[in-house]
Amino acid sequence: MTERTFSIIKPDATRRNLTGKVNAVIEDAGLRIVAQRRIQMTDAQAKKFYEVHAERPFYGELVDFMTSAPVVVQVLEGDNAVAKYREVMGATNPAQAADGTIRKLYAESVGENSVHGSDSLENAKLEIAQFFTDADIVG
Ligand code: GDP
Repeated sequence: MTERTFSIIKPDATRRNLTGKVNAVIEDAGLRIVAQRRIQMTDAQAKKFYEVHAERPFYGELVDFMTSAPVVVQVLEGDNAVAKYREVMGATNPAQAADGTIRKLYAESVGENSVHGSDSLENAKLEIAQFFTDADIVG
């Protein structure tokens, strides 16, 4: 089934000029980038985006990291896009990520791990709506 998922190229990756390299992995996996914008995330946006992690010990560090440099927010479209992108990203901790995944190739640590991808179709819809309107998405 064709789905849309939400992706963020995180500050550790934009800082190292890896946007194009990450996008190449995404496109080579058969996912289509149907919306994309480079933004400086505000503190309020980052807090809201990661509010499910508000009680975790790393929440403050995560919010600081996500606002430390520009990010690229994206909508990806393709067959089974949510699960497929999770596979392409690799495990949260790059030390455990499979060969060829974005995190294995580029992530620096469990926190600074280059990309975000929605973990369910329901969350994908909510996350897309936080950063894009329907008019921004050209499939
Ligand atoms: P994901 O779905 O693979 O991104 O992983 P999670 O939902 O578990 O965590 C969300 C994000 O929080 C991760 O991608 C990391 O950027 C960050 N994170 C997770 N665990 C840690 C941690 O132990 N330390 C720090 N600093 N950040 C973490």
